[in-house]
Amino acid sequence: MNWCDEMISWLISDRNSLIVVGGVWSLLFGLCVGSFLNVCIWRMPRRESIVRVPSHCPNCGHPIRWYENLPVVSYLALRGRCSGCGQKISPRYLIVELLTGLLALGIWLRCGFSGADFLTTLPQFAALSLMIPAAWIDAEHRIIPNRLTYFFIGFAIVGATVLPSAFGMPSPLRGLCHAVGIMLATGVILACFALLGKALFGGDALGWGDVKLLIAAGGLFGGTGVFFILLFASGFGVICAVGAVLFSAGKKRIRGYAIAFGPFIALGTFVWIFLGSKLAPLLPF
Ligand SMILES: [Zn+2]
Repeated sequence: MNWCDEMISWLISDRNSLIVVGGVWSLLFGLCVGSFLNVCIWRMPRRESIVRVPSHCPNCGHPIRWYENLPVVSYLALRGRCSGCGQKISPRYLIVELLTGLLALGIWLRCGFSGADFLTTLPQFAALSLMIPAAWIDAEHRIIPNRLTYFFIGFAIVGATVLPSAFGMPSPLRGLCHAVGIMLATGVILACFALLGKALFGGDALGWGDVKLLIAAGGLFGGTGVFFILLFASGFGVICAVGAVLFSAGKKRIRGYAIAFGPFIALGTFVWIFLGSKLAPLLPF
């Protein structure tokens, strides 16, 4: 059998064709979601509606027509400039769209090749839509909007009740109790950490936005998941903070510049999504 026949016989298996077709759709879906996440990243910290006002150029108000709003393609076709006023469009639009698209494709492929139930990708896709805007807004504005975290806390409760198997739970009641229980426990433990940090160091060692983001992560990935995400984010955060202090020695401008924790939580979440099954046995519980 030559490679062409081999590929065809690989493709015609039901599961493999589902992986390929689903992969294409996941990529397109991720690119479109990324385009919407860009709207959230710009408007949420400015307290603007994310649905009511149609897309427009923030510089000249030029309404963005549908063909100027195609993920990735439009940015490249317009060469990163507004067609109304020529103002440069932030490369964030391209980065967020590509990142969301590729991560969505990765989530689908990882699930397909590991032989897991495709329904289990639901909390992972939800985490993608939560973590990318949370990380970007936190890095830029030092806040994580409540309406973002509250939405996904609600999503975790409703999702675990309506589709318990997607969250690894056998029944709607177990799904509901597990989601609420984990989120309450995460909230109480992290609130103690946050208050203790404030009492010991005076500043916000762990902000309330970070606490709410981790509560949502607990609802989506359970106790082991949120434990790993917190461990990874704290460890990696400390390494980067020490690195930043050493690197900025003598440069006063960077000193005293608190590092946003949101991007580290997001990074920990993506590591958990892709390597969680291998890392879980190494964790104490
Ligand atoms: Zn413009």
